[in-house]
Amino acid sequence: MPPAATSWLTLDHVWLPYTQMATTPPPLAVVGASGSRIELADGSTLIDGIASWWTACHGYNHPHIRAAVAAQLDTLPHVMFAGLAHEPACTLAARLAALLPGDLSHAFFSESGSVAVEIALKMAVQFWRNQGQDRHRIIAFHHGYHGDTLGALSVTDPASGFHDAFAGYRAVQIFAELPRTLAERAEFERLLAAHRHEVAAVIVEPLVQGAGGMRFHDAATLAFIRAACDRHDVLLIADEIMTGFGRTGRLFACQGDAGAGIVPDLICLSKALTGGTLPLAATVATTRVFDAFRSARTEDAFMHGPTFMANPLACAAANASLDLFEREPRLQQVAAIEGQMHTELEPCRELPGVLDVRVSGAIGVVQLATTEASTLRPAFVERGVWVRPFGDIVYLAPPFTIGRDDLATLTSAVCDVVRDWGRTRG
Ligand SMILES: *Cc1c(COP(=O)(O)O)cnc(C)c1O
Repeated sequence: MPPAATSWLTLDHVWLPYTQMATTPPPLAVVGASGSRIELADGSTLIDGIASWWTACHGYNHPHIRAAVAAQLDTLPHVMFAGLAHEPACTLAARLAALLPGDLSHAFFSESGSVAVEIALKMAVQFWRNQGQDRHRIIAFHHGYHGDTLGALSVTDPASGFHDAFAGYRAVQIFAELPRTLAERAEFERLLAAHRHEVAAVIVEPLVQGAGGMRFHDAATLAFIRAACDRHDVLLIADEIMTGFGRTGRLFACQGDAGAGIVPDLICLSKALTGGTLPLAATVATTRVFDAFRSARTEDAFMHGPTFMANPLACAAANASLDLFEREPRLQQVAAIEGQMHTELEPCRELPGVLDVRVSGAIGVVQLATTEASTLRPAFVERGVWVRPFGDIVYLAPPFTIGRDDLATLTSAVCDVVRDWGRTRG
C-alpha cells in the first residue's frame, strides 16, 4: 500500500489507555486491517499476535460479519431496548442459550466486559436480597482480572496494579488463592463456611486468568470451586470475557474436558462475542437466578438498563460470528494453533531469564524473570509483528484463522526477542 496522510496523528486531544501520556511515543497510525494483518499508514503491515485484545477471532474485516452489519445498517442501526425489541437481539439470546452449558438461558445485554461484570455482581447481590438475605460481598481470586470500572475493579486482584489509586472508592471484597492443592482447597472451604452468610457469589475466570498474567488452572480446580459453592449455597459467576468463544479450545472454558465441565449461575461474555467488530457484552443467568427476580413485587425487578443495550448492529455482528463458528472449523484451527505454538515456543524454555513456557488453546505464554516485559514492545514492531508483552509475560493470542507461516513468524519473533533480551540483561 502507498503511504497515507497522517496529519490527524496527534496526542493533543486523545487520552490513551494504560498510558503515561507525558512520555509515551506516538502510537502507530493504522489505516486498515484484514485477516491477520494490521495495515499501517506508512504502507507496511504487522502480523497480529494478539487479535486486538483477543477479540478478532475470525481475523479482521471478515466478509460475512461485514455483510451482516451492513444489512443491519440499512434497516435498523439502533433503537432503545426498553419496551421495544428487535430480531437480532432475540435471535442472539436464543442462540447463546442453546450454545451455553446447562440452563444458562437468560441474556442481559450491555456494551462492554466491565459492565457485564458489574451486572453479574448486582444480579448476585439482588438474587439474595429478593429472598430476604443481605449478602453483599464477593469472593475473588488472586491474579484475577475482571475489568476497570469500580465494581469490576473491586474483584480484580489488588496486587495487579490496575487500581492502586482507588482503595477508598471500591467495595472491599474477599480474595482467595485458586484452590489447586489440598491445602488451598481446605482453606477455600473454610473461607466459604466462615463468610457464607455475607457472600453473594464467587467470581472466577475459568481455566485461564487473562490480564492477571495468563495463568492456567485445570478443569478439576474449576469443578472443585463449583462443588464448594454448591455446598455452601453461594452463587458462582464465570467471567468468560476472555476465554469465551473458543480461545481455550472449547467454545466455553466452563465446558472443561471430556464431560468434566461445570455450569456457573451467571456467565459474562464479551471480547470475541462480535468477532471483534463492535462493542457488545452479555451477562447470562440460569433459570434459578432469573426466577428470583420474577415476582408480583416491582422492586424485585433488575433495575439496570444501558442506553445502547442490545445494539442491533452489534447483535447482527454477534449472530454472524456464531454463524462462522458453525460453518468453519474454528475449534480445529485452535487445536492446530495450540500444537504449533507448543512446538515452536517450547525451545524458549532453555533461554536465560525464561521462567516458564505454557500453551493452552490459542494462548501461548513465555514468562520472564522481569516485571518490565512491556519494554520489549518496540522490538516486536521492528520485526513486523504486533505483540504486546505486559508484566512478566510475552504472549500470543492470535486470530484463529491465522496461517501456519504467519504464526511461525510470530513464534520466531517471540523466541528472537526473548533471546536478545536474555543476552543483554544485567
Ligand atoms: C477484558 C476483560 C474484562 C473487561 O472487559 P472490557 O470490555 O475491557 O470492559 C473483564 N474480564 C475479563 C476476564 C477480561 O479479559
